[in-house]
Amino acid sequence: MSTAARLPLPRARHGCGRSEEEPAQTGTNCLVDTYGRVHDDLRISVTDRCNFRCVYCLDEEAEFLPRGELLTYDEIVRIASVARRMGVRTVRLTGGEPLQRRGIVELVERLAALGFSDLAMTTNGVGFARLAGALGRAGLRRVNISCDSLRPERFACIRRRGQMGPVLEAMDAAEAAGLEPVKVNVVLMAGVNDDEIEDFAAFARTTKRIVRFIEFMPLDAQSLWDRSRVLLADDMVALLSREICPLEDIPDPDPRAPATEYRFSDGIGRVGFIASVSHPFCLNCNRLRLTSDGMLRYCLFAIEEADVKTLLRNGASDAEIEKVIRGNVHEKWLGHEINSAKFVPPPRPMYSIGG
Ligand code: SAM
Ligand code: SF4
Repeated sequence: MSTAARLPLPRARHGCGRSEEEPAQTGTNCLVDTYGRVHDDLRISVTDRCNFRCVYCLDEEAEFLPRGELLTYDEIVRIASVARRMGVRTVRLTGGEPLQRRGIVELVERLAALGFSDLAMTTNGVGFARLAGALGRAGLRRVNISCDSLRPERFACIRRRGQMGPVLEAMDAAEAAGLEPVKVNVVLMAGVNDDEIEDFAAFARTTKRIVRFIEFMPLDAQSLWDRSRVLLADDMVALLSREICPLEDIPDPDPRAPATEYRFSDGIGRVGFIASVSHPFCLNCNRLRLTSDGMLRYCLFAIEEADVKTLLRNGASDAEIEKVIRGNVHEKWLGHEINSAKFVPPPRPMYSIGG
């Protein structure tokens, strides 16, 4: 039952970490770091702008990037196509709020045409209901929708803007568009919404949506993070097992997935835990991140970044872009240091990195 047991050491993989249905590429082009981890997942932040101001992410005074600083869609597609040739097979669009960027359906369509085996999005859900069908037709395969409270007043308090109704509608629309299973991201904070863990578990059991509890990370814009506010995954697993029904670990076909998923032993409902603080999954990390202003980051918590935008705007060739991507992966550390005295929070908060 322990999540620690789910943290295998990095393994050498054949080819470029491709799935079975996607024939493994041979050759030396795939993205392997100095610890042998193959990088085949790219998170693309399309904007730092957001219509919410979630307390664990943004602050009221945040100033967003001027439009000219954002990568254009042509630039995003160019970088993605180079990454695709380097073995990246899955892409997730995020932000800020990705639906705040105009023309997002067109971007999904262009990325889908590059042949990624998975194309997903993380969204706060506002406006998603209207776009779900078009996004699905454009090639989006899956969606994670964030929702930190099932109580309308508290929802508004945590998000500081907006209402819960459209977010629940977004989940229905995603299912109607075939973007299933819908995953619901929940950041629980002690003293704020931790009393809703059982309600969320009940929600997962009645709706068949996979609720994923994310440990609060020190990436908020107001430096509110404190270890005492973090609900630990092990404690959540124990509580739900005791109060609702025992949880059984679901062996994940991809051991590099950040969430550890469980099913209730009566067969009704699934939940997941992203234990970035208590059980960092760095040893299996396969991710690279591209910020909306064109910086490549090998880790959510990275301090250094590689500037791909300037390179592109100076007329770089694909080979030069490839070199920068490879260089960034080469610099990747073994893991973040949240749990050590050496930890330095990154200069960008979550909304500006792309979670
Ligand atoms: N705006 C979209 C949304 O909220 O889903 C996408 C971007 S948001 C940065 C991506 C995910 O990061 C969300 O699920 C959000 O709950 C999570 N997140 C933001 N700040 C966090 C923090 N400090 N700790 C843990 N998760 C956080
Ligand atoms: Fe916006 Fe998402 Fe951050 Fe909330 S978590 S402020 S919705 S970017």
